[in-house]
Amino acid sequence: MTTRSEARLSPTLLPSPSSLDIVRTEIEHRNPAQPEFHQAVREVLETLAPVLAARPEYAEPGLVERLCEPERQIIFRVPWQDDHGRVHVNRGFRVEFNSALGPYKGGLRFHPSVNLGIVKFLGFEQIFKNALTGLGIGGGKGGSDFDPHGRSDTEVMRFCQSFMTELYRHIGEHTDVPAGDIGVGTREIGYLFGQYRRITNRWESGVLTGKGPHWGGSLIRPEATGYGNVLFAAEMLRVRGEDLEGRTAVVSGSGNVAIYTIEKLLALGANPLTCSDSSGYVVDDKGIDLDLLKQVKEVERGRISTYAERRGGSARFVSGGRVWDVPADVALPAATQNELDENDAATLVRNGVKAVSEGANMPTTPQAVHLFQRAGVAFGPGKAANAGGVAVSALEMAQNASRTAWGAARVEEELARIMADIHTTCHETAERYGFPGDYVTGANIAGFERVADAMLAQGVI
Ligand code: NDP
Repeated sequence: MTTRSEARLSPTLLPSPSSLDIVRTEIEHRNPAQPEFHQAVREVLETLAPVLAARPEYAEPGLVERLCEPERQIIFRVPWQDDHGRVHVNRGFRVEFNSALGPYKGGLRFHPSVNLGIVKFLGFEQIFKNALTGLGIGGGKGGSDFDPHGRSDTEVMRFCQSFMTELYRHIGEHTDVPAGDIGVGTREIGYLFGQYRRITNRWESGVLTGKGPHWGGSLIRPEATGYGNVLFAAEMLRVRGEDLEGRTAVVSGSGNVAIYTIEKLLALGANPLTCSDSSGYVVDDKGIDLDLLKQVKEVERGRISTYAERRGGSARFVSGGRVWDVPADVALPAATQNELDENDAATLVRNGVKAVSEGANMPTTPQAVHLFQRAGVAFGPGKAANAGGVAVSALEMAQNASRTAWGAARVEEELARIMADIHTTCHETAERYGFPGDYVTGANIAGFERVADAMLAQGVI
């Protein structure tokens, strides 16, 4: 099959014989039944041919293979007792993917769908994302198939304590620094940090990020992923001579990333119309009421249908359904992987969408990405667009290391600068390799160059 990059290259420029295809086939063979990991690898390798052709040192045998093989994969049993004394057994994961640029860094996901393939896809993406921030952090990811929905605080605490009782021996501020992701917020980070502190008898604040602001957390860390994604969308529109003010937006999810995406959209004068959870979506003709959304989701940990019940006439809850059916100028997927497929993309394009920016990791299927690109829609891949979260996590590590706490304005300023830099890097890299406006190629190549240079300099390890 001809890949997108190959189609635009003269055959003489390709690394021969299509070595990337051979590498990809081998990876799929050696990692069976991990479709999300295959998808993430394929999406990156599809875009690397031009850089391997232009920079022969990158075509060194084994470099790409090493990049696609985690340095370490840890799987462990997590037994815990619920409030009725029943014992449950979950599975814990930590994939330490690449530490060429710094300690492994990436979140923990607690969701029933978590398995090794999902953690590997997330860890693989994280390598390039973290490289794009320029902040000296490697890539890793972890989590468990534990489902926190409907669990009491004490059950979540006991689970986190059991999880950390194994994980603590693998992490550390100079080794591996986890943070939150789906199902893991400040509450869970608190329980995890407490257990780490108890076992190790160390106040090692840099071992986890996403901590509470009074015990080592950075201000603006909860906001960072959502804010950063909106800033990235705004940059993509700016180079096209447009902006977000007065634009309508369709947002999926109603967790951390979605809430702060909506907050930043409102701050920039845009009108977010939707949010969702796994049971359906809400469309609010007057625009999402942020205070009500935070009350329902952050304070009460409720379902999104409650928002519609309390909001009155302007909002309705659509059970199931596709949030992407709602017409809008900008789309910001902020829930989970593969939540926006080719049919959804066709609907969005038909309804005149101008920009799509990924708050979630890999929310857009490859077919949908190609459709957006063919239609001339500005498309921001998660590796670049949602890097604001991990960037502020790295700033949290810097604050912890120097035992200081920065004000919110300083962190927000840094976040805005980092997102603008990432945008420029992706934009310029795409142009340099002959793919103007293709942020997917720009992000993959720019992230790859930084990691590959460090790996080459550090020898075959
Ligand atoms: P949260 O747990 O805070 O929120 C997740 C939201 O997505 C919830 O509304 C949840 O609904 C919904 N959701 C999760 N899984 C599914 C599913 N299988 N089908 C439908 N809806 C689903 O997570 P975050 O906001 O932190 O993360 C959202 C996305 O952003 C993820 O892809 C994550 O990897 C990515 N991301 C997060 C970062 C962060 O800083 N938190 C950083 C970079 C990326 P429900 O409650 O019904 O499950």
